[in-house]
Amino acid sequence: VAPRQRKPDWIRVKAPTSTGFGETKAMMRRLGLNTVCEEAACPNIGECWTKKHATVMILGDTCTRACAFCNVKTGMPRKVDVLEPQHTADAAAELGLSHIVITSVDRDDLPDGGASQFVKVIQALRRTTPDTTIEILTPDFRNKAQAAVESIVEAGPDVYNHNLETVPRLYPTIRPGARYYASLRLLESVKRHDPSIFTKSGMMMGLGEERMEVHQVMDDMRSADIDFLTLGQYLQPTPRHAKVIDFVTPKAFDAYAAIARAKGFLLVASSPLTRSSYHAGDDFMRLRAA
Ligand code: SF4
Ligand code: SF4
Repeated sequence: VAPRQRKPDWIRVKAPTSTGFGETKAMMRRLGLNTVCEEAACPNIGECWTKKHATVMILGDTCTRACAFCNVKTGMPRKVDVLEPQHTADAAAELGLSHIVITSVDRDDLPDGGASQFVKVIQALRRTTPDTTIEILTPDFRNKAQAAVESIVEAGPDVYNHNLETVPRLYPTIRPGARYYASLRLLESVKRHDPSIFTKSGMMMGLGEERMEVHQVMDDMRSADIDFLTLGQYLQPTPRHAKVIDFVTPKAFDAYAAIARAKGFLLVASSPLTRSSYHAGDDFMRLRAA
Protein backbone atom coordinates (compact mmCIF):
# COMPACT_ATOMS: atom_id res chain seq x y z
CA VAL A 1 0.00 0.00 0.00
CA ALA A 2 1.41 3.39 -0.99
CA PRO A 3 1.87 5.79 1.93
CA ARG A 4 -0.74 8.58 2.20
CA GLN A 5 0.59 11.91 0.95
CA ARG A 6 1.61 14.17 3.82
CA LYS A 7 -0.31 17.41 3.87
CA PRO A 8 1.61 20.65 4.41
CA ASP A 9 1.01 22.62 7.61
CA TRP A 10 -1.26 25.15 5.91
CA ILE A 11 -3.84 22.42 5.19
CA ARG A 12 -4.44 21.36 8.80
CA VAL A 13 -8.03 21.81 9.94
CA LYS A 14 -9.85 21.69 13.28
CA ALA A 15 -11.66 18.51 14.33
CA PRO A 16 -15.44 18.86 14.25
CA THR A 17 -16.43 18.65 17.91
CA SER A 18 -18.56 21.73 18.70
CA THR A 19 -22.22 21.78 19.82
CA GLY A 20 -23.17 23.67 16.63
CA PHE A 21 -21.66 20.84 14.59
CA GLY A 22 -23.74 18.20 16.38
CA GLU A 23 -26.91 20.26 16.05
CA THR A 24 -26.41 20.84 12.31
CA LYS A 25 -25.82 17.14 11.78
CA ALA A 26 -28.89 16.11 13.78
CA MET A 27 -31.10 18.56 11.89
CA MET A 28 -29.93 17.30 8.48
CA ARG A 29 -30.67 13.71 9.55
CA ARG A 30 -34.11 14.65 10.89
CA LEU A 31 -35.04 16.39 7.62
CA GLY A 32 -33.55 13.56 5.53
CA LEU A 33 -31.18 15.97 3.74
CA ASN A 34 -27.73 15.25 2.31
CA THR A 35 -24.92 17.77 2.41
CA VAL A 36 -21.93 18.12 0.16
CA CYS A 37 -20.01 19.02 3.31
CA GLU A 38 -20.21 15.36 4.40
CA GLU A 39 -20.46 13.57 1.06
CA ALA A 40 -17.45 15.35 -0.41
CA ALA A 41 -15.51 15.03 2.88
CA CYS A 42 -14.98 18.81 2.94
CA PRO A 43 -12.07 19.83 5.18
CA ASN A 44 -13.99 22.90 6.39
CA ILE A 45 -16.89 21.00 7.93
CA GLY A 46 -15.76 21.67 11.52
CA GLU A 47 -15.60 25.41 10.98
CA CYS A 48 -18.71 25.73 8.78
CA TRP A 49 -21.06 23.55 10.79
CA THR A 50 -19.99 25.18 14.05
CA LYS A 51 -21.25 28.42 12.49
CA LYS A 52 -24.32 26.52 11.17
CA HIS A 53 -23.35 27.00 7.54
CA ALA A 54 -24.05 23.95 5.41
CA THR A 55 -24.46 23.23 1.71
CA VAL A 56 -27.44 21.02 0.94
CA MET A 57 -26.94 18.44 -1.80
CA ILE A 58 -30.28 17.69 -3.45
CA LEU A 59 -31.41 14.81 -5.68
CA GLY A 60 -29.99 12.09 -3.44
CA ASP A 61 -26.54 10.96 -2.37
CA THR A 62 -25.71 8.85 -5.44
CA CYS A 63 -24.29 10.34 -8.64
CA THR A 64 -24.57 8.96 -12.17
CA ARG A 65 -20.99 10.09 -12.91
CA ALA A 66 -17.64 9.20 -11.40
CA CYS A 67 -15.24 12.15 -11.46
CA ALA A 68 -11.72 11.18 -10.42
CA PHE A 69 -11.54 13.80 -7.67
CA CYS A 70 -14.95 13.37 -6.05
CA ASN A 71 -15.94 11.43 -2.95
CA VAL A 72 -19.66 11.28 -3.73
CA LYS A 73 -20.80 7.71 -4.39
CA THR A 74 -21.59 6.57 -7.92
CA GLY A 75 -24.39 4.26 -9.01
CA MET A 76 -28.06 4.15 -9.82
CA PRO A 77 -29.74 6.86 -7.74
CA ARG A 78 -33.03 6.48 -5.89
CA LYS A 79 -36.32 8.17 -6.72
CA VAL A 80 -36.45 11.94 -6.31
CA ASP A 81 -37.69 12.94 -2.84
CA VAL A 82 -40.78 15.14 -3.24
CA LEU A 83 -40.37 16.50 0.29
CA GLU A 84 -36.80 17.65 -0.36
CA PRO A 85 -37.64 21.19 -1.58
CA GLN A 86 -39.65 22.05 1.55
CA HIS A 87 -37.20 20.28 3.85
CA THR A 88 -34.37 22.32 2.33
CA ALA A 89 -36.32 25.50 3.00
CA ASP A 90 -37.06 24.31 6.56
CA ALA A 91 -33.33 23.75 7.09
CA ALA A 92 -32.55 27.28 5.88
CA ALA A 93 -35.15 28.65 8.29
CA GLU A 94 -33.88 26.59 11.26
CA LEU A 95 -30.26 27.49 10.61
CA GLY A 96 -31.24 31.14 10.17
CA LEU A 97 -29.29 31.38 6.92
CA SER A 98 -29.07 34.75 5.20
CA HIS A 99 -27.48 32.99 2.20
CA ILE A 100 -27.88 29.36 1.20
CA VAL A 101 -25.89 27.27 -1.26
CA ILE A 102 -27.70 24.36 -2.91
CA THR A 103 -25.92 21.79 -5.03
CA SER A 104 -26.74 18.35 -6.41
CA VAL A 105 -25.33 15.15 -7.75
CA ASP A 106 -25.50 14.63 -11.53
CA ARG A 107 -28.74 12.91 -12.53
CA ASP A 108 -28.14 11.86 -16.12
CA ASP A 109 -30.93 9.29 -15.54
CA LEU A 110 -33.68 11.96 -15.22
CA PRO A 111 -35.37 13.41 -18.33
CA ASP A 112 -34.60 16.98 -17.19
CA GLY A 113 -31.32 16.14 -15.42
CA GLY A 114 -32.92 17.25 -12.14
CA ALA A 115 -33.54 20.88 -13.20
CA SER A 116 -37.16 20.87 -11.98
CA GLN A 117 -36.01 19.91 -8.47
CA PHE A 118 -33.71 22.96 -8.41
CA VAL A 119 -36.71 25.07 -9.45
CA LYS A 120 -38.88 23.59 -6.68
CA VAL A 121 -36.17 24.18 -4.08
CA ILE A 122 -35.78 27.82 -5.14
CA GLN A 123 -39.57 28.30 -4.99
CA ALA A 124 -39.81 26.69 -1.54
CA LEU A 125 -36.99 28.91 -0.26
CA ARG A 126 -38.60 32.07 -1.65
CA ARG A 127 -41.87 31.12 0.11
CA THR A 128 -40.35 30.09 3.43
CA THR A 129 -37.31 32.34 3.84
CA PRO A 130 -37.88 35.26 1.44
CA ASP A 131 -34.90 37.21 2.78
CA THR A 132 -32.39 34.40 2.21
CA THR A 133 -30.25 34.89 -0.90
CA ILE A 134 -29.93 31.74 -2.98
CA GLU A 135 -26.82 30.37 -4.64
CA ILE A 136 -27.12 27.23 -6.72
CA LEU A 137 -24.23 25.07 -7.85
CA THR A 138 -25.50 22.89 -10.66
CA PRO A 139 -24.22 20.02 -12.78
CA ASP A 140 -23.77 20.55 -16.53
CA PHE A 141 -27.11 18.85 -17.41
CA ARG A 142 -25.31 17.36 -20.44
CA ASN A 143 -27.50 17.68 -23.59
CA LYS A 144 -30.41 19.11 -21.58
CA ALA A 145 -28.50 22.22 -20.54
CA GLN A 146 -30.43 24.77 -22.58
CA ALA A 147 -33.87 23.85 -21.20
CA ALA A 148 -32.46 23.33 -17.70
CA VAL A 149 -30.80 26.74 -17.60
CA GLU A 150 -33.93 28.50 -18.88
CA SER A 151 -36.18 26.98 -16.22
CA ILE A 152 -33.74 27.51 -13.35
CA VAL A 153 -32.95 31.08 -14.37
CA GLU A 154 -36.66 31.87 -14.47
CA ALA A 155 -36.96 30.67 -10.85
CA GLY A 156 -34.54 33.52 -10.03
CA PRO A 157 -31.55 32.40 -7.95
CA ASP A 158 -29.21 35.22 -6.90
CA VAL A 159 -26.01 33.38 -7.86
CA TYR A 160 -25.62 30.62 -10.44
CA ASN A 161 -22.48 28.55 -9.94
CA HIS A 162 -21.11 25.79 -12.09
CA ASN A 163 -17.53 24.68 -11.57
CA LEU A 164 -15.10 24.17 -14.44
CA GLU A 165 -13.00 22.24 -11.87
CA THR A 166 -9.76 22.03 -13.87
CA VAL A 167 -7.96 23.08 -17.05
CA PRO A 168 -9.27 21.61 -20.35
CA ARG A 169 -6.16 19.42 -20.87
CA LEU A 170 -6.99 17.45 -17.71
CA TYR A 171 -10.69 16.85 -18.46
CA PRO A 172 -10.27 13.34 -19.93
CA THR A 173 -8.72 12.03 -16.71
CA ILE A 174 -10.26 14.27 -14.04
CA ARG A 175 -13.75 15.08 -15.33
CA PRO A 176 -14.29 12.46 -18.03
CA GLY A 177 -18.08 12.76 -18.28
CA ALA A 178 -17.98 16.51 -18.94
CA ARG A 179 -16.92 18.91 -21.70
CA TYR A 180 -15.00 22.08 -20.87
CA TYR A 181 -16.66 24.28 -23.50
CA ALA A 182 -20.14 22.94 -22.70
CA SER A 183 -19.63 24.05 -19.09
CA LEU A 184 -18.42 27.48 -20.20
CA ARG A 185 -21.39 27.86 -22.54
CA LEU A 186 -23.80 26.90 -19.77
CA LEU A 187 -22.56 29.80 -17.63
CA GLU A 188 -22.58 32.15 -20.57
CA SER A 189 -26.21 31.28 -21.30
CA VAL A 190 -27.23 32.02 -17.69
CA LYS A 191 -25.99 35.59 -18.15
CA ARG A 192 -27.63 35.87 -21.56
CA HIS A 193 -31.01 34.81 -20.14
CA ASP A 194 -30.81 37.06 -17.08
CA PRO A 195 -27.90 39.50 -16.74
CA SER A 196 -28.99 40.33 -13.16
CA ILE A 197 -27.96 36.87 -11.91
CA PHE A 198 -24.35 36.66 -10.75
CA THR A 199 -22.41 33.78 -12.27
CA LYS A 200 -19.65 31.92 -10.51
CA SER A 201 -17.18 29.16 -11.22
CA GLY A 202 -14.22 27.49 -9.61
CA MET A 203 -11.22 25.27 -9.99
CA MET A 204 -9.30 22.79 -7.89
CA MET A 205 -5.55 23.33 -7.88
CA GLY A 206 -2.81 20.75 -7.48
CA LEU A 207 -3.96 18.32 -10.17
CA GLY A 208 -1.03 19.03 -12.48
CA GLU A 209 -2.28 22.23 -14.10
CA GLU A 210 0.28 24.79 -15.35
CA ARG A 211 0.13 28.43 -14.30
CA MET A 212 -0.46 29.66 -17.86
CA GLU A 213 -3.29 27.16 -18.29
CA VAL A 214 -4.96 28.58 -15.17
CA HIS A 215 -4.60 32.11 -16.57
CA GLN A 216 -6.19 30.91 -19.81
CA VAL A 217 -9.15 29.43 -17.94
CA MET A 218 -9.61 32.77 -16.16
CA ASP A 219 -9.65 34.52 -19.55
CA ASP A 220 -12.20 32.00 -20.86
CA MET A 221 -14.36 32.60 -17.79
CA ARG A 222 -14.22 36.37 -18.22
CA SER A 223 -15.13 36.00 -21.93
CA ALA A 224 -18.21 34.09 -20.73
CA ASP A 225 -18.92 37.01 -18.36
CA ILE A 226 -18.42 34.97 -15.18
CA ASP A 227 -18.47 37.24 -12.13
CA PHE A 228 -17.05 35.24 -9.22
CA LEU A 229 -14.10 32.85 -9.03
CA THR A 230 -13.04 30.31 -6.41
CA LEU A 231 -9.71 28.50 -6.37
CA GLY A 232 -8.85 25.86 -3.75
CA GLN A 233 -6.40 23.03 -3.20
CA TYR A 234 -7.52 19.57 -4.36
CA LEU A 235 -7.23 16.96 -1.60
CA GLN A 236 -7.34 13.27 -2.40
CA PRO A 237 -10.38 11.87 -0.54
CA THR A 238 -9.24 8.22 -0.69
CA PRO A 239 -6.33 6.35 -2.31
CA ARG A 240 -8.70 5.36 -5.18
CA HIS A 241 -9.05 8.99 -6.25
CA ALA A 242 -6.76 11.14 -8.41
CA LYS A 243 -3.44 11.89 -6.72
CA VAL A 244 -2.43 15.34 -5.57
CA ILE A 245 0.36 16.41 -7.94
CA ASP A 246 1.38 19.39 -5.88
CA PHE A 247 0.32 21.48 -2.91
CA VAL A 248 -0.02 25.05 -4.13
CA THR A 249 1.41 27.45 -1.55
CA PRO A 250 -0.74 30.17 0.08
CA LYS A 251 1.52 32.72 -1.64
CA ALA A 252 0.79 31.22 -5.07
CA PHE A 253 -2.95 31.29 -4.28
CA ASP A 254 -2.57 35.01 -3.45
CA ALA A 255 -0.79 35.56 -6.76
CA TYR A 256 -3.65 33.86 -8.63
CA ALA A 257 -6.13 36.05 -6.73
CA ALA A 258 -4.32 39.23 -7.76
CA ILE A 259 -4.33 38.15 -11.40
CA ALA A 260 -8.01 37.19 -11.24
CA ARG A 261 -8.96 40.58 -9.80
CA ALA A 262 -6.94 42.30 -12.52
CA LYS A 263 -8.88 40.30 -15.10
CA GLY A 264 -12.12 41.77 -13.75
CA PHE A 265 -13.76 39.14 -11.49
CA LEU A 266 -16.02 40.89 -8.98
CA LEU A 267 -15.35 38.35 -6.20
CA VAL A 268 -12.31 36.14 -5.88
CA ALA A 269 -11.69 33.54 -3.18
CA SER A 270 -8.34 31.83 -3.57
CA SER A 271 -6.67 29.88 -0.77
CA PRO A 272 -5.78 26.27 0.00
CA LEU A 273 -9.05 25.63 1.87
CA THR A 274 -11.33 27.63 -0.42
CA ARG A 275 -14.31 25.62 -1.65
CA SER A 276 -17.23 26.84 -3.80
CA SER A 277 -19.38 27.45 -0.77
CA TYR A 278 -16.70 28.42 1.76
CA HIS A 279 -17.67 31.85 3.18
CA ALA A 280 -19.87 32.26 0.08
CA GLY A 281 -22.57 34.10 2.04
CA ASP A 282 -20.14 36.50 3.76
CA ASP A 283 -18.44 37.37 0.46
CA PHE A 284 -21.75 37.88 -1.34
CA MET A 285 -23.15 40.09 1.45
CA ARG A 286 -19.99 42.22 1.39
CA LEU A 287 -20.35 42.69 -2.36
CA ARG A 288 -24.01 43.68 -2.05
CA ALA A 289 -23.23 46.14 0.71
CA ALA A 290 -20.39 47.77 -1.27
FE1 SF4 B 1 -19.88 22.66 3.52
FE2 SF4 B 1 -18.97 24.44 1.78
FE3 SF4 B 1 -18.35 24.66 4.35
FE4 SF4 B 1 -17.31 22.72 2.90
S1 SF4 B 1 -16.95 24.91 2.62
S2 SF4 B 1 -18.18 22.50 4.94
S3 SF4 B 1 -18.97 22.22 1.52
S4 SF4 B 1 -20.39 24.83 3.47
FE1 SF4 C 1 -19.00 14.30 -7.90
FE2 SF4 C 1 -20.35 16.10 -9.33
FE3 SF4 C 1 -18.63 14.41 -10.53
FE4 SF4 C 1 -20.93 13.51 -9.49
S1 SF4 C 1 -20.66 14.95 -11.21
S2 SF4 C 1 -18.93 12.53 -9.29
S3 SF4 C 1 -21.15 14.80 -7.66
S4 SF4 C 1 -18.14 16.05 -9.06
